[in-house]
Amino acid sequence: MSIKKAIQNDHLAFWIIVNKDRMIRPDDQSLMMLCRWSALTFVRHYEDNIVVLGEYEKKSVFLLDTENEQLEHELPTVGLRGALMHGSPEQFGLFAKAWQYALFMRTHRYCGSCGNRMRQVDWEMATHCDRCGHRCYPRVSPCIIVAIYRGQELLLAMGTRHKNTGMYSTLAGFVESGESLEEAVHREVMEEVGVKVKNLEYFGSQPWPFPHSLMVGYIAEYAGGEITPDENEICDANWYHIDQLPLVPPTLSIAGQLIETTVARLKAKE
Ligand SMILES: [Zn+2]
Repeated sequence: MSIKKAIQNDHLAFWIIVNKDRMIRPDDQSLMMLCRWSALTFVRHYEDNIVVLGEYEKKSVFLLDTENEQLEHELPTVGLRGALMHGSPEQFGLFAKAWQYALFMRTHRYCGSCGNRMRQVDWEMATHCDRCGHRCYPRVSPCIIVAIYRGQELLLAMGTRHKNTGMYSTLAGFVESGESLEEAVHREVMEEVGVKVKNLEYFGSQPWPFPHSLMVGYIAEYAGGEITPDENEICDANWYHIDQLPLVPPTLSIAGQLIETTVARLKAKE
């Protein structure tokens, strides 16, 4: 359904209302607002900022970004990470998309080529410069993530950003320009912990909206070298026996899924 129609007909729809880096929720239990446009009086002046996100439970889902304005309402809010953690897998995709679209619109007001004001394209998610024809799409940054095994052990590392969480995870890093996903796996693993890997196997992928990554998962076998952590990125890295793992990420994230799957496979081999 088009945005115009939804507003004119005042159909029941799901609304993801983003304010700063939080989402407004209808109550403490639900994550998405299910209501009519006429009920959203506190964001009425944002009519031009509505974006179609997709469908959920056979109803349209719209994003409304109120940017950094101080809104007058008494509804509860939730941070984006909290929403992702507590939502269903289907909601996860919608929240990730909503946040990436909001961020895209906030950071593409002006043309990067000629500096003119950009216009939002009405039939696809893009901004367009009417002066020079430059068109921008929401950025997606591929990022590899890899579970490395050696016999009955997994290589897990604590990133410097997770220093105080006690959490150990798989290695991950952004793909560089001109690089294949597999080349990125070999380079990142060598840079971060100084070991070689072989027998790369594609595992799956997951969008991760912090801020616009697409995590591409691999399972790889250790091929040589001693663990030598890159101090800028890794504070600790070790081999862990699959029966004695440290605290690892939940299976909501692809890191958690990679660890769970690799452990299950190694156990099956025992
Ligand atoms: Zn331009």
